Amino acid sequence: MNIQEVHRYLENYHINPSVQRSAIMQYLLQNFTHPTVDQIYADLLPDMPTLSKATVYNTLKLFVEKKAVKAIYIDERNVRYDAQTGLHAHFKCRRCNDIYEVPLEESDIPTFRGGPELRLGETQIYFLGTCGKCFEQANTQMTV
Ligand SMILES: [Zn+2]
Ligand SMILES: [Zn+2]
Repeated sequence: MNIQEVHRYLENYHINPSVQRSAIMQYLLQNFTHPTVDQIYADLLPDMPTLSKATVYNTLKLFVEKKAVKAIYIDERNVRYDAQTGLHAHFKCRRCNDIYEVPLEESDIPTFRGGPELRLGETQIYFLGTCGKCFEQANTQMTV
């Protein structure tokens, strides 16, 4: 996605496309790896020496508020960010911590029976296990 397309993408979410916001959004649209703040910052810094980690953090917070990006809380150490906002679940490998997309249908989601005091905001579904890559590397004593 070129930078003009990224600008339009941000404007669709009513986000003013500053240079830094555009760079961060473009990064997310090119890296569906569920990166952390630290990864995004480290990857963008060589091209944007004036970028600060606080800016990355605040920008992601804005993206999440505007629903341009989803925050994923599958990793107990770091929030991960996902520009894939359509319905899907996640699978986290316990060995390498990679997060994989898992297709999900509306019908796969258990019906949420809330009430006046419980209103559903969003659904996050995730699975834990071992990815194929790690499974192959692992010895026979591994626990899945
Ligand atoms: Zn793995
Ligand atoms: Zn995802």
